[in-house]
Amino acid sequence: MFEGVKKAFSSLKEAIITKEITEEELEKHLWDFELKLIENNVTIEVARKLSEDFKKELIGKRIKRTEKIEKVIEETFKNKLEELLENTGNYDLIEKIKSKKSKPFVIVFLGVNGVGKTTAIAKLCYFLKKKNLNCIIACSDTFRAGAIEQLELHAKNLGVEVVKHKYGASPTAVAFDAVQLAYKKGIDVVLIDTAGRMQTDKDLLEEMKKLVRVIQPDAVFLVVDSLTGNDSYKQAEIFAKEVGYDGFILTKVDADEKGGVALSITYETKKPIVFISHGMNYDDLMIAKREWIINKILGYGSD
Ligand code: GDP
Repeated sequence: MFEGVKKAFSSLKEAIITKEITEEELEKHLWDFELKLIENNVTIEVARKLSEDFKKELIGKRIKRTEKIEKVIEETFKNKLEELLENTGNYDLIEKIKSKKSKPFVIVFLGVNGVGKTTAIAKLCYFLKKKNLNCIIACSDTFRAGAIEQLELHAKNLGVEVVKHKYGASPTAVAFDAVQLAYKKGIDVVLIDTAGRMQTDKDLLEEMKKLVRVIQPDAVFLVVDSLTGNDSYKQAEIFAKEVGYDGFILTKVDADEKGGVALSITYETKKPIVFISHGMNYDDLMIAKREWIINKILGYGSD
């Protein structure tokens, strides 16, 4: 996991600590570092920022090499990563659900097809059940063939109810019915699936806007596939401009050998990664923590 970005950091560290280097050599190593980051899905802006920040931090320290240089470099890397991932880990969903005065707490999921939205909804439902919060799922993706059946299957496995209409029905009407039902039954959380056509599809975006305007959810999560690379930043930008969301569910992290999206998306959007999905099982979903991402990138801890 995150091998590409991890290697960029470890190569830079090795280059600096193994021998005394000139300022010119440091520049060259930082340039290699920047390129490696970009190759591994880090945005150009974030790669450049890191490289420039390290240059400022390391220039003085490099000249006066001591046996502590390794520690100093590791600290510098860690501090800069903490800055980059500033918002991640700050969104406490459980606390928000529990502190809402009236039930239900309503969550809308956005994301293009194939990113892992349906799976993420099922996993979040499982996660909430473990916290003794019951949910219902609204099948508001009334567009993609099979979307309703896929959710029904998960709901059956998880022992929760779904609210559905026919394909082609209004997504907002489905969501509205689900919220009403949850209110009547005293259910804690409503999880609303939405259609996942391309982020450039104007009709889809209008439908999403309407749903959010009418339902006024307590949270909107954008589901982003960490394997998508640069396109995930475009999705994040368009959905932010057109619909708005509170944070990300970053999926397929278990299969991500690069790591750049986890590293850059918070800085680029100023929105937190709220959950990380890392496998095919219902319990392969965890609360996103800054330290966890940093440890993976700097090579501390195991997978
Ligand atoms: P949707 O179209 O966005 O609803 O996507 P799905 O939930 O149907 O998932 C698309 C594919 O990605 C499926 O084959 C899932 O099994 C797979 N998938 C979803 N989440 C993860 C994950 O965290 N890790 C891995 N490795 N695969 C995932």
